[in-house]
Amino acid sequence: MANIVAIVGRPNVGKSTLFNRLIESRVAITDNMPGVTRDRHYGHAVWTEKYFTVIDTGGYVVGSEDTFEAAIREQVEIAIEESTLILFVVDTMTGLTDLDNDFANVLRRSKKPVYVVANKAETFERHQTASEFYEMGLGEEIFPISAADGSGTGELLEAVVANFEDEGVENPDEGTPRIAILGRPNVGKSSFLNALTGKDRSIVNSIAGTTRDAIDTHYKLFGKDFILTDTAGIRKKAKVHENIEFYSTLRSVKALENSDVCIVLIDAAVGLEMQDISIIGHAHNAKKAIVLMVNKWDLVEKDSKTADKMKKEILDRLAPMNYMPVIFASVVEKQRIFQVIEKVMEVYENKTKKITTSKLNEIMLPIIERTPPPMLKGKQIKIKYCVQVPTPSPTFIFFCNLPQYVQESYSRFLQNKLRENFGFEGVTITVFFRAK
Ligand code: GDP
Ligand code: GDP
Repeated sequence: MANIVAIVGRPNVGKSTLFNRLIESRVAITDNMPGVTRDRHYGHAVWTEKYFTVIDTGGYVVGSEDTFEAAIREQVEIAIEESTLILFVVDTMTGLTDLDNDFANVLRRSKKPVYVVANKAETFERHQTASEFYEMGLGEEIFPISAADGSGTGELLEAVVANFEDEGVENPDEGTPRIAILGRPNVGKSSFLNALTGKDRSIVNSIAGTTRDAIDTHYKLFGKDFILTDTAGIRKKAKVHENIEFYSTLRSVKALENSDVCIVLIDAAVGLEMQDISIIGHAHNAKKAIVLMVNKWDLVEKDSKTADKMKKEILDRLAPMNYMPVIFASVVEKQRIFQVIEKVMEVYENKTKKITTSKLNEIMLPIIERTPPPMLKGKQIKIKYCVQVPTPSPTFIFFCNLPQYVQESYSRFLQNKLRENFGFEGVTITVFFRAK
């Protein structure tokens, strides 16, 4: 189950700065992706090999100090409900304020762990101020840190990850794909879900996940078993308008994290938008298998070339994340809904597929011989052999003499060749180079 850490606190205490610091090590990966870094309020973090998702709740509250009290309260309530753990950020420059106390009052009722993070504690004086926050009577320990220069964050992360179970918990449902249905508001997610489950419904059972509020539902559809990790069935309406986006994002982040395959819906009448790319980017970074479902196909005026043309346009814009199948569907007209599920099964198999070392080398070594890595600084890189490693998504190691000299473009070349020859439609391929 996904570990979700929410960062809450009043404006200007340094929530975004802390957020950026926590996801720092992984940002480099996402920075190259189109549209992913902008406007991102959630991201992955890792500390001592424990992975978790961080949500910056501050990014969701708009408005001035006086208009957002209600929004804040609700935001905190949602964060409490949805996250595994809460980081409550306060400011040692200003000291304890009334608004901090308001937050504390809401947080106190939570049974989730709350860590008080006393930020901006670069100076000795401010470091001392941190103890002032004990007055709130919240959290067992206060962590004086500086999000700006990173001091104190190690101790904080140490305490945070101590709450998480180790990765690789035993999964009784291994082999059954977990699906998340994702997309911007109004693309047709609920309609799709209803169409799937209403018509050929056969809920096998419904078990609560290891976290209290995530519910996995087992379905049998068209004779195939899968688990829907969406929580649409227990959706609650956010009371304050600004929080609707925050709330639905939390829900989809959670569904995404717990899934193997993501069906990302796009509105055919609107086309691919930045927000769609950002959702796809998140699924890509989390190494989920992906199926793109261009919904509301009934609304598009089309001839025999429209689908191919649109598919090309979409994939070109997504490059290099352009390996996923695209299906043009209409939930309203029940058109190609079955194909979407078929594709889900297919990409799931691609994600879990293992290529034997002999087969892999038989195909890849001649390719490498024909097109070897380009010389760099007068050095010739020699790739000796390759193996697929047993990870949850296809990962290959190429053993060679000078791994540090292999260029990104050559890595991409190998990824493409692996796709061409072994058919990994819908899944990311990771390639590493190691010294022999
Ligand atoms: P948010 O509104 O809570 O997300 O706060 P921001 O992350 O946007 O930070 C608000 C202001 O505090 C910015 O001007 C930051 O540069 C500054 N800030 C954030 N963290 C630190 C810190 O550790 N030390 C100092 N001195 N300033 C910080
Ligand atoms: P969600 O916010 O993603 O869950 O989207 P909904 O399922 O609530 O759908 C939003 C609107 O789009 C509703 O009015 C649906 O009836 C409509 N809709 C969903 N699928 C289709 C479709 O395939 N074609 C058309 N024309 N409308 C659709």
